[in-house]
Amino acid sequence: MRSVLSTLHRTPQVLREFLPRQSPDKPAAAMPDLSAEPRPGFSELGLVPALAQAAAALGWSTPTAIQAAVLPSALQGGDVLGLASTGSGKTAAFLLPLLQRLLVEPQWPPAPPRILRALILAPTRELAAQIGASARSLAPQLNTVVAVGGVALQAQRQALQGGAQLVVATPGRLLDLAEQKVLRLSTVRMLVLDEADRLLDLGFSEEINTLLSLLPAQRQTLMFSATLPDAVATLAGSVLRDARRFETTIAHAPAMPRIRQRVIEVDAARRTMLLRHLIAAEGWDRVLVFVATQYATEHVAEKLRRAGLAAAAFHGQLSQSRRAQALADFHDRRLAVLVATDLAARGIDVAQLAAVVNYDLPRSAVDYTHRIGRTGRAGEPGLAVSFLCADAPGSAAQLRLIEKRLRQSVPREQAPGFEPAAPPAAPAPQDGNGGIKGRRKSKKDKLREAAAGVLRSD
Ligand code: AMP
Repeated sequence: MRSVLSTLHRTPQVLREFLPRQSPDKPAAAMPDLSAEPRPGFSELGLVPALAQAAAALGWSTPTAIQAAVLPSALQGGDVLGLASTGSGKTAAFLLPLLQRLLVEPQWPPAPPRILRALILAPTRELAAQIGASARSLAPQLNTVVAVGGVALQAQRQALQGGAQLVVATPGRLLDLAEQKVLRLSTVRMLVLDEADRLLDLGFSEEINTLLSLLPAQRQTLMFSATLPDAVATLAGSVLRDARRFETTIAHAPAMPRIRQRVIEVDAARRTMLLRHLIAAEGWDRVLVFVATQYATEHVAEKLRRAGLAAAAFHGQLSQSRRAQALADFHDRRLAVLVATDLAARGIDVAQLAAVVNYDLPRSAVDYTHRIGRTGRAGEPGLAVSFLCADAPGSAAQLRLIEKRLRQSVPREQAPGFEPAAPPAAPAPQDGNGGIKGRRKSKKDKLREAAAGVLRSD
């Protein structure tokens, strides 16, 4: 068994050496020249016609860069570390090879047809549900079960007892099911860790370690992460074997040309009024607003509702049914504004979103990219507006750092009637309640706030 704990001493530097050292013919920077056109088609990359057709039916006719890079190795059964974020097409980069192996290698390993052979771990319930839906569209003949927390266990238990070949899960619920012996992990031959950085950020490392100890060592592992902080590198060093590493960094893909970015200077206290003004003046019919804390989602949504807007909060403390309801309402345009934490920054795919607003600035360039990537989906034009508060200590520097990382600079604007009142003020008063009467800040909120002050180096 390859235990995470046994390799905790590995540093990221070791990993960078470790990957190529284990397989000298497989350099760490193994990204082929993807600028070369035309890029090979799915069939040329080794995908069977049935899956290539299923991909085309979803509108995926030409592989994205990360798909073109990952598919050949993954189809041959090799381990892969993919450094790619949402929007790069990473889901298909692991789903297509995984499904192909399930479909064309039914005897691998020799086993009854409806035995669990592949497992995908995702950080959020919504992401797991989206991956499960894509798997079902691509390969409806396979039995795919999505197992996530926040919903009754019974339905998942029944689905699993019918025999699933592929399970897409969040770590906590999967562990519950494994501990209750509803499913056995010893037959799994393919493992995907999607958004590994997010899995660890959300505190799932213990669950992942336990799950890894239940999985057979003999398996193929595909791991994807937007960033490679120490903890992710350590995890990669322990779960991957002879892995090839592929990377689509922001530097490789600054291409979000369809997303128009704006920065508007405003006093912190007038942000909600400015937001309401923009929604009306710009005619935004649907807008996703990012704030720094769970309490701020509730607070801002409440203020917008009081102003007559159909707004709701979206964060990790909501029950799964309320999260699903909020998303469905937003999708179906029953909601005009969704006020969210970074939980919504990844994986949420809403077509024709008029704008994304950074009511609070994100902590890092990576988070910024994820957030604004919610607009301008599938070739549509997009708009991302960030509020810059001169009276919030550190925000100007924080935004400059994000711009530096992204090698861009967005002109500062002021909205008539909302010009900031004079120079930066003293640090914001701390009321111990996150600025919202009667509500206590969660541990995660405190961590987020702490992180918001110091920009992460990723
Ligand atoms: P992901 O990075 O997996 O979240 O995918 C981002 C978006 O790209 C999703 O809406 C996918 O449906 C879409 N997508 C994935 N692969 C392709 C492809 N080869 N061509 C066009 N769109 C794609």
